[in-house]
Amino acid sequence: MKFTRRTILRGAMAAGAMSALPRLSFAATSLEMGSARIDTLSDGNLVLPLGFVSDNPAAKPILERYGITGDAVEPPCNVTLYRDGTNTVLFDVGSGNDFMPTAGKLTEAMDALGVAPEDVTHVVFTHGHPDHLWGVLDDFDEPFFFNAQHMMGKSEFDYWIDPATQDSIDDGRKTFAAGALRRLETLQDQIATFGDGEEILPGIMAQMTPGHTPGHMSYQVKNGNAQAFIIGDAIVNHYLAFAAPAMAAGSDQDPDLGATTRVALLDQLASEKMPIVGFHLPEGGLGHVERDGDAYRYVPEV
Ligand SMILES: [Zn+2]
Repeated sequence: MKFTRRTILRGAMAAGAMSALPRLSFAATSLEMGSARIDTLSDGNLVLPLGFVSDNPAAKPILERYGITGDAVEPPCNVTLYRDGTNTVLFDVGSGNDFMPTAGKLTEAMDALGVAPEDVTHVVFTHGHPDHLWGVLDDFDEPFFFNAQHMMGKSEFDYWIDPATQDSIDDGRKTFAAGALRRLETLQDQIATFGDGEEILPGIMAQMTPGHTPGHMSYQVKNGNAQAFIIGDAIVNHYLAFAAPAMAAGSDQDPDLGATTRVALLDQLASEKMPIVGFHLPEGGLGHVERDGDAYRYVPEV
């Protein structure tokens, strides 16, 4: 056996997992889709100031209705795993070790499902934010999913790979830009880009949903008659985004465009009645959208 740095790292992680018995089940929810299946994998959670949700005083009574009264929120992070018998596709890769101590747990969740990093054939990004991208490299700055074809929407990739973004982006997001640039430069020769409306893999269609980031992509996944919509951060929470979709969201880089995208996407999802997977939605992030008067409500698939 040839010991590479990666083998040693993996061995160390396996030993760590053994000592952590009894093992928790990190795989949150799953959805059978004909001969394929979706599992959502918890990467842990973020801890964010309430301003990331909204600074609008009109948001306060809505937030209180959902029990959000403090000055911080702790959104869960759900990475989507799609397996159709041929491809093993990860949508986003979580935070890795460099973002927040509460996040970066994807490896444990994959381990609980018996999926190893080398089993992943494709890594597909919704966008370039830390909680979605930063887990892509290992501790030696090599691709963690080393057998995978990596894929990102072209406008999203072009935005974060441009060194000028670090100057133009607002101060609160400069670390996002630096972290994305470093990772995408490392991956540059291994990442494929695509445009709005492209079928990027069999049964997986990209749909541009900009505003949260300039080139944010969502994905419609079809297998036989079954379908689901992976929405990333286009709908970023289960309270304000549904109850007041047109209200500006603090986490959207372009709040007006984000609101326009959200309003249109919720209408589409409520009309099509298809299961959705949201990266920051509760209970594993699998649910569907229902109309609620002029607004919407999130219904978890549990
Ligand atoms: Zn996110």
